[in-house]
Amino acid sequence: MTKAMDYPGNLFVVAAPSGAGKSSLVKALMELDKRVSPSVSHTTRAPRGQEVHGREYYFVSHETFDQMVTQNAFLEWASVHGNRYGTSKTAIEQRMSQGVDVVLEIDFQGAIQVKRIFPNAVLVFILPPSWEELRSRLERRNEDSAETIELRLQNAAQEMAHAREFDFVIINELFERALFDLKAIVHAQRLRYGAQRIARADTFGALNIH
Ligand code: 5GP
Repeated sequence: MTKAMDYPGNLFVVAAPSGAGKSSLVKALMELDKRVSPSVSHTTRAPRGQEVHGREYYFVSHETFDQMVTQNAFLEWASVHGNRYGTSKTAIEQRMSQGVDVVLEIDFQGAIQVKRIFPNAVLVFILPPSWEELRSRLERRNEDSAETIELRLQNAAQEMAHAREFDFVIINELFERALFDLKAIVHAQRLRYGAQRIARADTFGALNIH
């Protein structure tokens, strides 16, 4: 299935072990580039802190999630750290068909599922610069117990083993540099022949290129 060919918008999928800085990078990208829009996932986990239903996630019960799985409503879904998370098909297909670039901030299992369905999806893996830095970022975040941090570090090793299945890798050592790298990936995608052919149809027409 090469469905991505049907949509003018790009699909970017960003994955990383927790603590690598994925959310901050994606947030900064979207602030700078209004043509990139997020996809709001469904999850069975409870809201944290200031999270709002429909903004960070659609917080749903296990029953609702099961129903959505049965109805084939998810493009992908996965269990991550004991909760289930999924990307609804309608939300992203609608936006991509309008030519919007969509960014999915999901775990590596979901990213690999998306690539199977949309071979044109651009998979980006964010790595921390070292184990020491990853550990100290998780500790500095002050969100998790020592036990949870150990668990997240163990998971990180397994997650990072999948980086090779991604198209691009960004090492988030200096935030500004990593953001520049992410912007470059998005920009390069918009310069692909097919994208330029649509975005600059007038120029192509005037140059007699078909
Ligand atoms: P958190 O609970 O900290 O918001 O997210 C935990 C993990 O689940 C993160 O790696 C996050 O990217 C991932 N995640 C969030 N939404 C989805 C989704 O729709 N699908 C998949 N596969 N992973 C998701």
